[in-house]
Amino acid sequence: MTLTIGVDIGGTKILAGVVDETGKILDSVKVSTPENSDLTADAIAEAVRKVRADYEIGAVGLGAAGFIDADRATVLFAPNVSWVNEPLKTRIEERIGLPVVVENDANAAAWGEAKFGAAAGHDDVVVITVGTGIGGGLILGGSLYRGRFGIGGEPGHYRVVPDGRPCGCGNRGCFEQYASGNALVRAARERAAAAPGRAKELLGLGDGTVEGIQGSHVTEAARNDDVIALAAFNEIADWLGQGMSDIAALLDPSAFVLAGGVSEAGDLLRAPAAEAYRRKLAGQGHRPYAQVLTATLGPDAGLIGAADLARV
Ligand SMILES: [Zn+2]
Repeated sequence: MTLTIGVDIGGTKILAGVVDETGKILDSVKVSTPENSDLTADAIAEAVRKVRADYEIGAVGLGAAGFIDADRATVLFAPNVSWVNEPLKTRIEERIGLPVVVENDANAAAWGEAKFGAAAGHDDVVVITVGTGIGGGLILGGSLYRGRFGIGGEPGHYRVVPDGRPCGCGNRGCFEQYASGNALVRAARERAAAAPGRAKELLGLGDGTVEGIQGSHVTEAARNDDVIALAAFNEIADWLGQGMSDIAALLDPSAFVLAGGVSEAGDLLRAPAAEAYRRKLAGQGHRPYAQVLTATLGPDAGLIGAADLARV
């Protein structure tokens, strides 16, 4: 059995793990991400060295946020680590003497969920990562789809509302402005501001102000059947359903996986999103519906996926 190492390079920590062919993590270590990005390659190499000591390792897969070129070698742009055209593959190979591939972290996590997690057994999978923004990944015909330039599979910035809410990317009306964790908080705050009398429970979970409402409060209140929190979940779930039905018109997957921090709310998000997807799907009633699933690997998905992608 060939073992590989997956590395998840985050803004604050670097997680490296030895993974077997079934997606099981045998061992892992965590190191801090250096403040100085010139030192990040050394920190990655250190993490790999620590975790590989007792194992025979075939290759290393790195998952990094940002635009990764289609050759899986260079980070074109990484907002969190301030890399521009960083030849990460070469830098790490020089330091550790093993073959290295670099993948976008969301693509790596999507691969992990599609192969070993929620969508195991499916060949056509769309993963939608619902965090502060929206990320994702596409598995088409059993392969990770990266696009010609390596930047494909990013549903967060396709436009759903012409001249809609402004987005950090410079455009307006992007999907992530309506269906992300930030959109969930915004929906809850708007409702709490409009009807503070009905928002007592939700406000009580924070500092009592509308601005003090955080995503975790909305999830906790929704679990207790708070009407404002449930309405906020239903609002973003409706947008997610819209997005999935539009994606289905183009790609016709057999499964959608909802991943990321907001998906930890489970059926509070998944059930209304699945219902909205079925309601909005073009040709509904005359075609099979895709399954709408909640991610199962949690924060390990990126590491597991990067390790497996190092094999292929
Ligand atoms: Zn945008």
